Amino acid sequence: MGKRKKAAKRPQSQRQKEPLDTAFTCLFCHHEKSVTVRLDRKEGVAQLVCRVCDQRYQSKVNHLTEPVDIYSEWIDAADAAQHDAPAARPAATSSSRPVAAAVSDDESDQD
Ligand SMILES: [Zn+2]
Repeated sequence: MGKRKKAAKRPQSQRQKEPLDTAFTCLFCHHEKSVTVRLDRKEGVAQLVCRVCDQRYQSKVNHLTEPVDIYSEWIDAADAAQHDAPAARPAATSSSRPVAAAVSDDESDQD
């Protein structure tokens, strides 16, 4: 019979020069890899956009910021927006209600 060829010889030179993984799953339309993050370190801004549902988000970057940081920021922001949006809170922080049950302590002043 013939000799068996060793078939498991994979060329390792297929490494493509890809940019960092900047495609993420969209929170809103749930398409995989539809959200892309572009970092502009020169300008110090990041642009996140979903090419499917056109959600956008912008944030600031520094030299340590990675696309995934922007993505998680976006998640936080979207989360916060969701909690804020449905119920518009009445802006009644300063209640002008008169203080009820004022304790009269005119007896404590006796001699
Ligand atoms: Zn989307």
